[in-house]
Amino acid sequence: VSQSRYYHEYQARDLLSSAGVAVPRGAVARTPEEAESIARSLPCNSFVVKAQVHAGGRGKGTFKDGFKSGVHLVKTPAQVRDVAARMLGNQLITHQTGPEGKPVHAVLVAESTEIARELYLAIALDRASSHPVLVASREGGVEIETVAEKNPAAILREQIHPGLGLQPYQARKASIFLGFPSTGLRAPCRLIHAVYRLFLERDCSQVEINPLAVTKGGDVVALDAKLNFDDNALFRHKEIEALRDAAQEDPRDLAAAEHHLNYIGLDGDIGCMVNGAGLAMATMDLLQAAGGRPANFLDVGGGASEQMITAAFKLLQGDPRVRVIFINSIVTG
Ligand code: GDP
Ligand code: MG
Repeated sequence: VSQSRYYHEYQARDLLSSAGVAVPRGAVARTPEEAESIARSLPCNSFVVKAQVHAGGRGKGTFKDGFKSGVHLVKTPAQVRDVAARMLGNQLITHQTGPEGKPVHAVLVAESTEIARELYLAIALDRASSHPVLVASREGGVEIETVAEKNPAAILREQIHPGLGLQPYQARKASIFLGFPSTGLRAPCRLIHAVYRLFLERDCSQVEINPLAVTKGGDVVALDAKLNFDDNALFRHKEIEALRDAAQEDPRDLAAAEHHLNYIGLDGDIGCMVNGAGLAMATMDLLQAAGGRPANFLDVGGGASEQMITAAFKLLQGDPRVRVIFINSIVTG
């Protein structure tokens, strides 16, 4: 399960909610005033204000101006406004954003949840078995990679047969593993089935809820969620494509997408221009093996036009990381 985030939490929340998964009441705000008025409309006396960026680890993050944490619990609508004012227009730095951080243009204002237990629940694609896999752990709230390292027995991985779908016994098994009593399996089972339905219907590559909270009142709610989608299925989900937020994306990736280039930005200093995806990967491996560090993956494809090659060169030359360009091109015919 990868931890990166390509869509906003508030968007994931809306999709989960429409699939029947309980989420705390709340809404997204783009100004401090809007944040305050959302808080005033919520029937509660403590609130959570959360910076919306395409990255995880927000709770432990720090803003560029030193303001601590992208997840704040406060008591009054006026405090909601003040925290929103500190976050909006600021840059939030987490261990997933890189040192520049990501710009905050929106905050989620929600009723604060009284948490009894923080769980982890995800459905992801397991490439090794080519099956969807249900992943569950009682150790939610922390990164699943950390749990996997320190206490692998705390993670349940349940393969879902793509033809048969998620079976009721599998949802029960996961719910019991998550610590629900045998008399209280209905709510978590229903939730797990709803998550699987969402995964299928929207062609997700990942639905990750962390934490999935059990409240002091005994309800099960999704407090934070990351959804990722299969790029190859986006053509049949215009509603998902519309959720993209260019302000959160690597400008190199955006320029590449505009010209239909198969490009992935990396951290090295050797710009790569290759025709063919396999050749491009082999080229990066060879550069790496020889002690070099590729600045990108770029497959300009078999029948690349003059315009595409020009766009590709401009992209590589415009990348401040790139010190040299390596061209590996096979001419056939
Ligand atoms: P992340 O740091 O980007 O993963 O953001 P999360 O939304 O997962 O929040 C981080 C942590 O903040 C959670 O694991 C919770 O412990 C805490 N948190 C988030 N929302 C609430 C809330 O409504 N009430 C309480 N008490 N804690 C919350
Ligand atoms: Mg989280």
